[in-house]
Amino acid sequence: TPGGHKGKEEKIVVTVRLRPLNKREQSAKDHVAWHCIDDHTIVYKPAPQERAAQPASFTFDKVFSPECSTETVYDGVKDVALSALMGINATIFAYGQTSSGKTYTMRGITEKAVNDIYMHILNTPEREFRIKISGLEIYNENVRDLLNSESGRNLKLLDDPEKGTMVEKLVEETVNDDQHLRSLICICEAQRQVGETALNDTSSRSHQIIRLTIESTLRESADCVRSYVASLNFVDLAGSERASQTNADGARLREGCHINLSLMTLTTVIRKLSVGKRSGHIPYRDSKLTRILQHSLGGNARTAIICTLSPASSHVEQTRNTLLFATRAK
Ligand code: ADP
Ligand code: MG
Repeated sequence: TPGGHKGKEEKIVVTVRLRPLNKREQSAKDHVAWHCIDDHTIVYKPAPQERAAQPASFTFDKVFSPECSTETVYDGVKDVALSALMGINATIFAYGQTSSGKTYTMRGITEKAVNDIYMHILNTPEREFRIKISGLEIYNENVRDLLNSESGRNLKLLDDPEKGTMVEKLVEETVNDDQHLRSLICICEAQRQVGETALNDTSSRSHQIIRLTIESTLRESADCVRSYVASLNFVDLAGSERASQTNADGARLREGCHINLSLMTLTTVIRKLSVGKRSGHIPYRDSKLTRILQHSLGGNARTAIICTLSPASSHVEQTRNTLLFATRAK
């Protein structure tokens, strides 16, 4: 079996990235409430005038401080990404509230993974690789093709007995080389932005998936056992403020903050996967996002979640919610 991973349940890789205070937060005289005290621990330190309702410290396998580069953050998920070269489906998520750094982080991670994939191809002349890419956005449980702005809207999901859930009519481009792949990723990102200006604030409500399908076969060998195929998914999720109805204090979220079905279902699926075999039924079928990702999430697939956080004291409740999600996922 490829890479020897099959049949063994893998833990979800969960890392946490704290971004620096941004300009807006700085000019609003917001202050830094969260600190990375070492590589594993993040702590909440309230300002003197704030009541420390729930002073908190959270520990993870890896915590990245505001000084850490995306290169360093990538090192934490690199094994998951590169397992797709060995025929193991993989998914990397960015999870966090709006403006916490999901898109910033995912773009960097995707770029670094693309570099590594082509480095691997260069160093593996005995194999022939074929890469395909598709890009989609899920907004309000509607699937939109990011590589087909003409007619790629409201796409249906189909159940293929062999391939699992497929997105009908989704464009899959065959990639010629690394430059071509980068340009196709750019098209997906630009397409998502188009939606963003037309409809106010879509990125806080929509999920973006960039999926690479990586196939390889040994040259000079007709032995199909030696061929690999896997998908590698880069997922920039909707703002996590849409995952729950209540904040950590149990108060209702502000008006207009609708719950996102795909995000809510994903958090349930992740929680159940992290519990392991005992968890019973996993509700993949309850949302578009989890249906599309089903075969790249849990089971024999590898999963990494990068939880992004604002350090600002004004976001303390959402930051705590993200850390609680991260704790349950690991
Ligand atoms: P999200 O996608 O979660 O809504 P963004 O990725 O758009 O958030 O980030 C919000 C802002 O913060 C952007 O201007 C982005 O460039 C900046 N930012 C996010 N993370 C970092 C970081 N680790 N270092 C520096 N700037 C960051
Ligand atoms: Mg974003």
